[in-house]
Amino acid sequence: MKAVEIPEPGAEFEVVERDVPEPDAEEVRVAVEACGICHSDAFVKEGQWPGVDYPRVPGHEVAGRVDAVGEDVTEWEEGDRVGVGWHGGHCFTCDACRRGDFIACENAQVTGFDYDGGYAEYLTAPHEALAKIPDELDAVDAAPLLCAGITTFNSLRNSEARPGDLVAVQGVGGLGHLGIQYAYEAGFETVAVSTSPEKEDLAYELGADHFIDASEVDAGEELQSMGGAKVVLATAPSADAMSSIVSGVGVDGKLLTIAVPGEPLSVDVQPLVTGRRSVGGWPSGTPHASEDTLDFSALRDVTPKVETFSLEEADDAYAAMMDNEVRFRAVLVPE
Ligand SMILES: [Zn+2]
Ligand SMILES: [Zn+2]
Repeated sequence: MKAVEIPEPGAEFEVVERDVPEPDAEEVRVAVEACGICHSDAFVKEGQWPGVDYPRVPGHEVAGRVDAVGEDVTEWEEGDRVGVGWHGGHCFTCDACRRGDFIACENAQVTGFDYDGGYAEYLTAPHEALAKIPDELDAVDAAPLLCAGITTFNSLRNSEARPGDLVAVQGVGGLGHLGIQYAYEAGFETVAVSTSPEKEDLAYELGADHFIDASEVDAGEELQSMGGAKVVLATAPSADAMSSIVSGVGVDGKLLTIAVPGEPLSVDVQPLVTGRRSVGGWPSGTPHASEDTLDFSALRDVTPKVETFSLEEADDAYAAMMDNEVRFRAVLVPE
């Protein structure tokens, strides 16, 4: 099979021929139909994640079909449409797993980090890492929902925000353009915040009720003039942008970050104390939460805007993603 591997930290991608992997007893082999490129793939590409063995095939936004199942796998069969996201498996025996909190598993595996991911024609994954894909969703549309989608959907649905509350989505990019759609469909008064005024029309098209051009006005002040946000979902990996919008969080509200900037945030603590405001984060979710995301997306017609690339074009696609030139998710499609 064809696969795109990272030979060593910091190296260019290499397209290689490999044997099609055989699933172990508790694994499933997936024939990949589409795999999204996520900003977090940079951790593997640049060697910024501890414990990754190289060469490594990245990719944790995988959509495809079950191609073979290990002898102990009972819940999947050949032909099932499935996805594999960031959460690539758990141990079932650590304290967190025994509480059913699989995303916090002490031995959790990350797809494309701890084992080879979806920049390939096939991958094998533990049976517990799979999510069903509903018929209504194309593989190309489903792929980015397995990381970008679940992270925005799951963070919002687990937040304190309730229908009618003011929710701001900071950044209209790969994560943000999905966050706006989910926020609108969940019944929130939805504010899109961007430093790119040319994204205003798109933000309204995606469901935003308001647009704040943060290159012109102070987004925090603007949100306070609307009453303060219950949740500011920070989707752009910029410490400056996050620090500058904390002031828009309302009483009992939260800056909820799902993007990971390289530098620490600078936050004025007094408003946190006086208004019970908080700053927090959210990981993606379990495979079952991925399934909820995919089902909701099919129900409400939430889809990502994507650009597709072949496996041979992985370098170009990755570079375009890193340079913020992809509108809005890059997806690899094996030929
Ligand atoms: Zn991701
Ligand atoms: Zn565990």
